[in-house]
Amino acid sequence: MTTRTILGAIVTSLVLGLAPGTATLATPAAPVPRGAPVAPETPDGSVAPDGSVAPDGSIGPVTPAPPVAPVALDVSVRARSIDPGEPVRIAVTAPEPLAELAGTFLGRDVHFVRVAGDGTRWSGWGVVELDRKPGPTTVEVRGRAADGREALGARAVQVRPKAFPSETLKVAEKFVTPPPEVEERIARERELTAAIYAGRRDLAPGAAPFVRPVPGEASSRFGTRRLYNGKPRPPHAGVDLRAATGTPVKAAGPGVVALARDLYFAGGTVILDHGAGLFTIYAHLSKLKVEEGATVEAGATIALSGATGRVTGPHLHWGGRVGDVVFDPRALLEAKLFGEASPGAVSTDQRRRTSRSAPPSRSTSASPASTPR
Ligand SMILES: [Zn+2]
Repeated sequence: MTTRTILGAIVTSLVLGLAPGTATLATPAAPVPRGAPVAPETPDGSVAPDGSVAPDGSIGPVTPAPPVAPVALDVSVRARSIDPGEPVRIAVTAPEPLAELAGTFLGRDVHFVRVAGDGTRWSGWGVVELDRKPGPTTVEVRGRAADGREALGARAVQVRPKAFPSETLKVAEKFVTPPPEVEERIARERELTAAIYAGRRDLAPGAAPFVRPVPGEASSRFGTRRLYNGKPRPPHAGVDLRAATGTPVKAAGPGVVALARDLYFAGGTVILDHGAGLFTIYAHLSKLKVEEGATVEAGATIALSGATGRVTGPHLHWGGRVGDVVFDPRALLEAKLFGEASPGAVSTDQRRRTSRSAPPSRSTSASPASTPR
């Protein structure tokens, strides 16, 4: 491999946000030997005969700086399955403490929080939106070591296809076409909840999976396309769990009460902030048992269920969000999203899924070795 080929491979890997030599690279880059001369390129891509270009563009000898290798990060992805409406836990391990870490998944920023106090283990949440098309994608992370060196990591994953059913519901007409006098209230509540979902609290996920908020089974699935009184409305943003009015509702996981009040559509509502952009929502409650700002443990009673807001009868609506994107909260009951995993793992349950495989990889950054099947 010539020096220019090596340089090209490194530039390509940096553009893709990948660390040279990681398993996620389609074309592995050879490490640049320490002290090896690196020929800078002129703007037109040519290289001077003596392999150097002065800062002002004139040809002349310059002393090349020794290359600084970025810190290679290990990225693991944990999910019930990687398909629309699923949260994805992204765990990053660094060989040395990092001062900061950021990332992207499916075009959205991932907010990372420290799991280990020394800055070597980090956790963030990604999410697959309901309308995401199947295909390959890459989790990319970028950080900075304590001494200022860049830290890079990436992992290729495959988004699987998923179809959602539809259902027709009959509710009071004021919840389908709200009267003009409540428009301002609805707009105000939308702003309030949007501000909550924009928050990124520095809380790391615990080792234990979340718990069911009520014992009842689901009566309406997440993501169901809905017609209210014959009019199309957004897909179901949670699951409806059977619960007679007055059933104690438990916090599914540890967190902070971000909202506890009555909303027009959702009725009595509690929103819990679990940190790093992860939220769970409890709606149609008859009585609230917590105050905004309180810290709760998993399993603590936060409310009593009911039939307030836009409902057909008593039940608990349980929702989940990563930022402003909704997901099926039942995914949080899976142990594999929590605790520690072996380095580099892509842990999903895609073996038991019956859906067809997505089309072959078109992305240069997707590696068959790390793509779940
Ligand atoms: Zn619901």
